[in-house]
Amino acid sequence: MTLTYVDIHTHHKYSQRKDVESIINSDYFLSGKTPEQNHTVGLHPWWIEKVDVTWKTQLTQLLSKPYCLGLGEIGLDYFIEFDRKIQAEVCLTQLEMAKKFKILRIVFHCVRAYSDLYKLIKESGYSGKCLLHDFNGNEHELKQFLKLDCYFGFGAKLFKMESKTRNLINLVPLERMFLETDEQDNITIEQIYHEASQLRKIEPNVFATSLLENYQIFTR
Ligand SMILES: [Zn+2]
Repeated sequence: MTLTYVDIHTHHKYSQRKDVESIINSDYFLSGKTPEQNHTVGLHPWWIEKVDVTWKTQLTQLLSKPYCLGLGEIGLDYFIEFDRKIQAEVCLTQLEMAKKFKILRIVFHCVRAYSDLYKLIKESGYSGKCLLHDFNGNEHELKQFLKLDCYFGFGAKLFKMESKTRNLINLVPLERMFLETDEQDNITIEQIYHEASQLRKIEPNVFATSLLENYQIFTR
């Protein structure tokens, strides 16, 4: 039996593969391009300094293009030095944009800033679907985000024996879980599925079927 994999957040293209459903993260604000495949587009906290004043107008146009499924990555990153207040402003602006244009889903990049991100989402009044990609929060933060229509993505960190994600993955309800390759070149989505299904102690085919159902719900 061939499984269908879902790579919920990736910077790679699966042009030849029919057995992978994926959402590509467009790096539009670096490359000036968006792919002719399912993707999200947004202003990542790392690239705020690189854009000019037209970014909002550009983003508004990109959100209505074919294959654009939503906003992303947007969010907060407290590991980088960049001003947190500006990060919050840019994130809130995009959340308000999502609300205004009825954007159905947002992919979030969040590093060491989960409670502040939660507050921003509440403040904006955005009530669509959320994906916290590469989730690495604690149990309290997980519970907080479960109150929203929120999904959690896991990837390469699952292979690090000391990573708390190996425990976290067992705390996330199966119907709110996704797997992802993100920027990894040396780990395939199959390998991530294999590791995750072992950690969850779920048969690989049952696991793959569940995540595919999640994908259908997330993208509908
Ligand atoms: Zn990414």
